[in-house]
Amino acid sequence: MNDSSPEQDQLNVGNQRGRILIVDDQPLMIRVIHQIFADEHELYMATSGEQALVFCQNNPPDLVLLDVMMPGLDGLETCRRLKQDERTSAIPVIFVTGQTTEEEENACWDAGCVDFVSKPVNSRTLLKRVRSHLTLKFQSDLLRRMAMVDGLTKLANRRYFDQYLQQEWRRCRRTGKPLSLILLDIDFFKKFNDSLGHQQGDDSLRSVAGTIAASTQRPADLAARYGGEEFAVILPETDLVGASNLAESIEKSIRELRIEHPSSPIDGVLSVSIGVSSLVPDDTHQSDQLIESADRNLCLAKERGRAQVCAG
Ligand code: GH3
Ligand code: MG
Ligand code: MG
Repeated sequence: MNDSSPEQDQLNVGNQRGRILIVDDQPLMIRVIHQIFADEHELYMATSGEQALVFCQNNPPDLVLLDVMMPGLDGLETCRRLKQDERTSAIPVIFVTGQTTEEEENACWDAGCVDFVSKPVNSRTLLKRVRSHLTLKFQSDLLRRMAMVDGLTKLANRRYFDQYLQQEWRRCRRTGKPLSLILLDIDFFKKFNDSLGHQQGDDSLRSVAGTIAASTQRPADLAARYGGEEFAVILPETDLVGASNLAESIEKSIRELRIEHPSSPIDGVLSVSIGVSSLVPDDTHQSDQLIESADRNLCLAKERGRAQVCAG
């Protein structure tokens, strides 16, 4: 069966394989649905609402096909809980329901589903519905990702930096672990642009960004473009010593790129100054203090001659 439309072919996202969770207490129903989708999507199964919630929290799928009538947590309650949890609220839910009264349909909408199909399932209808909701999901994922990324350097943008700093601040306050911040500013970058042109300025911003990204190792570390030629790295569960070591290594790696900067007194190559700060978040501090302290150290690094790290 070939149901793909030309519009879908244009939108690459429409042809992407989706990760679908099928939730039904009857293994036979799971098998029927499995046969419909096995060729075009990655399928996962759960036989209860409780199992489905745990799966979605640990490993969010792109779409959930949810039976309404199940012992224990029924489909409606499972859907409500998925929608209440910010980790799972963006996952579209399609109900597979045997019921068709107006009230029951309304209960499905009220629970937060995007659609429903009736049993016995018409495989073509189910395929079509799933395909269009997956396309919408992929498009909104893409938009969400684009809204977080800086177009020039492909690092996280300032908006995402702010959001992530708040999130990690709260997390480290709960766990009592330190949170560190690196702020980095390119030295004499105005002169660089003036002597070599903006295009080359942009190229070197990309090289600096790539070097910072390659230096951050842990999955929780976040490298971001903080402003024009300023970058930041958020380092959760990292103390001042760890953050300073990373900053030193970034500073050195960037100088070792040997990007020509004829008007710089620092060996004629592009260099950066870095400020580092670290705090164990608690009620007496705010995340702004982490930024202010890194910024003060960055100013010190500039005053002391640039191409260096100041931490404290
Ligand atoms: P300092 O060593 O004190 O940091 O000197 P600086 O010249 O780097 O500092 P200043 O803040 O005066 O200049 C920053 C320059 O960065 C000015 C601006 O033209 C340049 N810049 C900011 N964003 C971009 C960008 O996206 N592309 C390019 N090519 N240049 C940028
Ligand atoms: Mg600057
Ligand atoms: Mg600068």
